[in-house]
Amino acid sequence: MPAIKAVYLVPRGAVVRSGRIHEIAETLSKCQSFFARQAGISVEWSVRRSPIRGENPASAYNQSHNLAAEVLDPLRSGSAIVGVFFEGSLSEPAYGTLSMDNLAPQHFVIAQPYISMLGGRGDVVVAHEIGHTLGLPHPSGDGYSIMGGIIASEALDEQSLFPWTRPHLSRSERRYLRNRWIIRDAERAASDL
Ligand SMILES: [Zn+2]
Repeated sequence: MPAIKAVYLVPRGAVVRSGRIHEIAETLSKCQSFFARQAGISVEWSVRRSPIRGENPASAYNQSHNLAAEVLDPLRSGSAIVGVFFEGSLSEPAYGTLSMDNLAPQHFVIAQPYISMLGGRGDVVVAHEIGHTLGLPHPSGDGYSIMGGIIASEALDEQSLFPWTRPHLSRSERRYLRNRWIIRDAERAASDL
C-alpha cells in the first residue's frame, strides 16, 4: 500500500504557523479516509513533528533542485511518497508528480494559497495531488471527480444534497487504484511465500 511521509517546510524569512502541523495531520487523515472509502486502498501517512527550516527564501524553491536537495532526497526511502507542505508561494501552488511506476519516488507540494485552506477546500486539493502520486491523471469524462478540472466545491468530508458534486473518484479511477495497489500488494505477498 502507498505510504506518505509529510513535512512542513518553512523557507528562510517565513514565519512558522503554530498549528500547521496539526492541520496537515488532520488533512492527511481525511485523505486516508477518502481513498479507503472510495477505492478500498489504505494510504498510510506520517508527518514530521517539527518544521524543516529551509536554507533558502521562498522563491528559490521554484528551482526544483533546491527542493530535491533539502527535502526530497534526504526523505526518500523505498517507494514512499514525500508530501511537502510549503509555507509560502510558488509559481505552481500545488502539484503532484505522476508516474506509472511506483518504484520511482513520488512527491507532491502544497503551497499558498492552499496550505491556508487545510481543513476546508484545501483538503480536496491535497487529495487531488495525492491522486497524481498514486498514478491518476486528469480524466476526460467525469469533470466532478476530484481528479477533474472542476474541483468539487465542498470540503472532503462534507455531505451535499447533490451526490455528483461531492468529492469523489470516478468508477474508472477507483478501478485503477484497486488494480494497481491492492493487486500489487497481493502479488508481493505471494512472492514472499
Ligand atoms: Zn492535477
